[in-house]
Amino acid sequence: EKAEIGLIGLGVMGANLALNIAEKGNRIAVFNRTTEKTDEFFAEAGALADRIIPCHTMEEFIDAIRPPRPIIIMIKAGQPVDDQIQHLRPYLTNGDIVIDAGNANFHDTRRRFKELDGTGLTFIGMGVSGGEEGARHGPSIMVGGTPESYARVEKVLTSISAKFNNEDCCAWLGADGAGHFVKTIHNGIEYADMQMIGEIYGLLRDGAGKSASEIGNIFGGWNKGRLNSYLIEISEKVLAARDPHGDGPMVDMILDQAGQKGTGKWSVIEAQQLSVPATAIEAAVAARVLSSMKSQRVAAEKIFGSAPGKIDASGAGLNDLELALFAAKIGAYAQGFAVMSEASKEFGWSLPMPVIAKIWRAGCIIRSQFLDEITTAFTAMPDVENLIMTPAFSAMVKEALPSLRRVVAAAVTAGLPVPALSSALSYFDSYRQARGTANLIQAQRDFFGAHGFDRLDGKDFHHGPWGSGLNE
Ligand code: NDP
Repeated sequence: EKAEIGLIGLGVMGANLALNIAEKGNRIAVFNRTTEKTDEFFAEAGALADRIIPCHTMEEFIDAIRPPRPIIIMIKAGQPVDDQIQHLRPYLTNGDIVIDAGNANFHDTRRRFKELDGTGLTFIGMGVSGGEEGARHGPSIMVGGTPESYARVEKVLTSISAKFNNEDCCAWLGADGAGHFVKTIHNGIEYADMQMIGEIYGLLRDGAGKSASEIGNIFGGWNKGRLNSYLIEISEKVLAARDPHGDGPMVDMILDQAGQKGTGKWSVIEAQQLSVPATAIEAAVAARVLSSMKSQRVAAEKIFGSAPGKIDASGAGLNDLELALFAAKIGAYAQGFAVMSEASKEFGWSLPMPVIAKIWRAGCIIRSQFLDEITTAFTAMPDVENLIMTPAFSAMVKEALPSLRRVVAAAVTAGLPVPALSSALSYFDSYRQARGTANLIQAQRDFFGAHGFDRLDGKDFHHGPWGSGLNE
């Protein structure tokens, strides 16, 4: 019996995805560049081996799959994917579907989609979130491509995706690069969410003198409330863990340099290209970069010193910290969704905001109760320009903003860095200001470059009285 689907790339993600696919009752053919890995994988598949066809050559692999063949490529993103497609192409026949499930840059996905368009083959760009565990037991799946090609793979994909209240965390989101774009923004939001949790951790550690386990307990408490989420949950666990090779908390022994693979940076680049302010996400990406400059920071502390003031983490103070994190988190998510909304227009995708929020509720790294509330808000107002303009979220922001303001003010006074929290605060403060300060910028621009401005009274005079030649 032929396989329903094929998968190339038995690395961490590919192997787990393949086991998940087999476990849900689908026959799957697998191939890996290094063939020993295929054998190892098959040997360790246990009872699932019955549904797995291990292949050592492209000929065997292609022959093992029922046409039209959906073939998932789950390998290192970038040039390897182009090479793999090149290698695969001569074997494919009409109707076959090449699915890139890695973390591709959506511009590459659009190009690859175009390259296969009209050849009888189709391309799907599929964002997969949830790490190793998600791939094995239920990831969140964001699909871009033609609706027809999605129809061919929908059954397999929904069988392996995460579920939230029995609803699949898998959906077709739009043409060509839509799925990979949404995955990119997911990762940008993830960066912001993680950074904001990290900033609150810093205030508790350096401003309130709390130990890792004390902070873990605080996060554990918050995880039962409005901040309930996977990221808070794992932060609690991480903070509770002891160093198996020492006698202190594990986190205290970890070098404070964060890595990144590029999707966070891409989300910021795209936000800038689309002219959408995504300041909290930008701050989070910049914070990771700053974290990597360890030797500069060590040298700078010697010059400038670092003697943080106190942060109040008693009853009311602690409540403020919780609400501040919540408010800032809303800001980051609102920005991420606003970027997607603009991209949707720019690339002609009609991205369905309520569906995106829905498929992020489980499986992915940013999964949370909060995303269910975003789903409800966007379902009621799918075309709203900004999440914070929905009645439910306006109310939440109004309630939590004073806490964010107090926390950012206290952090600034104490000399503790809160780049993402303060960016979110300034975003709210700018967004709600009907009369801003760009009138001065317009005047400056007109002064030095005769750029002109619009008048509030609508009169037809577009230059200021700054000097000879510019007066009108
Ligand atoms: P791994 O490093 O575990 O696996 C890499 C795989 O890519 C191996 O099968 C390797 O084959 C193959 N490969 C590398 N270069 C080539 C090439 N030039 N031609 C053919 N095959 C090649 O990676 P992951 O499983 O972690 O990641 C795979 C993809 O999934 C990436 O795009 C990643 O960004 C994405 N992703 C990862 C997540 C994670 O949490 N790890 C989460 C979501 C997405 P070989 O054995 O022969 O070296």
